[in-house]
Amino acid sequence: MAPRAGGRRLPLALLVLLVVGNAAAWRAADGAARQARGYVEPNVALHWERLDGNRVRCLLCPRTCTVSPGGRGACGVRENRGGTYYTLVYGNPCAVHVDPIEKKPLYHYLPATKSFSIATAGCNLECRFCQNWQISQSRPEDLVNQRMSPEDVVEAALASGSRTVAYTYSEPTVFYEYMLDCAKLAHERGLRNVYHSNGFINAEPLRELCKHMDAANIDLKGFTDEYYRDMAGGSLAPVLRSLKILREEGVHLEITTLLVPGGNDDPGDLRRMCRWIRENLGPATPLHFSRFHPQYKLTNVPPTPVERLELARRIAMEEGLEFVYIGNVPGHEANSTYCPGCGERVIGRIGYSVDAAGLRGGVCQRCGTVLPGVWE
Ligand code: SF4
Repeated sequence: MAPRAGGRRLPLALLVLLVVGNAAAWRAADGAARQARGYVEPNVALHWERLDGNRVRCLLCPRTCTVSPGGRGACGVRENRGGTYYTLVYGNPCAVHVDPIEKKPLYHYLPATKSFSIATAGCNLECRFCQNWQISQSRPEDLVNQRMSPEDVVEAALASGSRTVAYTYSEPTVFYEYMLDCAKLAHERGLRNVYHSNGFINAEPLRELCKHMDAANIDLKGFTDEYYRDMAGGSLAPVLRSLKILREEGVHLEITTLLVPGGNDDPGDLRRMCRWIRENLGPATPLHFSRFHPQYKLTNVPPTPVERLELARRIAMEEGLEFVYIGNVPGHEANSTYCPGCGERVIGRIGYSVDAAGLRGGVCQRCGTVLPGVWE
């Protein structure tokens, strides 16, 4: 266990200031000791081995970086100091917000509740279309970081009225140790844990994480190795393995695919992907097709046409998936949940406004079908 930030607990009143977003008051209350550009407090990492010449090999994700003394892994937040591997982001989130859980997105898990959401710098992929590249592709010393121990996170989450702590925005795998300790403590204090990840993690650390994780939304970025290699610097097989592990370990699972025009929207690939999901994870696995908007390194690609998203949804439903959503298109009817038994709209969503009157205790009020998910 890493030491508490600053070796002390922060008063609850200060945590509440952060939760309500009163950054000015927060800084005034605790000054530079609380938040600083480049604030970093190294802690010994998990899941690595020592090699000859004081080199180390990281075993956390499929990149398995070999790192010489003084160097860092590809994610930019894990560093070899004299033959010992350190995480540079334990207790140093660069983003702290209270979000609707629908923003993760999780549509079948405690709808209309608040989720206390944190992220640090760094990512182990390099997606050309990244929506949070300002933090995911940065090193911690280049960002303004909070000093927040797991105790601070859990106290702030409770004070905010959140039901869950979410590990999100950048890539939680690279702040694995921090996530793990926060998740353990959150469970002890009656909170649940959810995370949004690229699923690019090795099997052993993932199984350990699953003991403390309640729900996950995993990006399935495409369904070819070429797409993963060319657009993200990764590969497909480890992500599919992670999806199977999460299902085996009983973690509530949803999937997001950002549909990039001309990239991963080939109807044949989408059909194969949806068939794989049905056969390996089950037809009740919620799938979110999210609309791409030009950003980061893909500013030359237009936004996904809505008809393309609708075609992807039709293909998914033809392949037998029961809950297929269209995201990032405000007001679209496919952002709501429909009963697979009778077709009734049981959860209406417009933006982050949620009307779940058609579903009580997970049961469709019209026909009595039980919908999969965690509703209470
Ligand atoms: S977590 Fe980071 S350092 Fe470890 S293997 Fe992955 S990219 Fe490399």
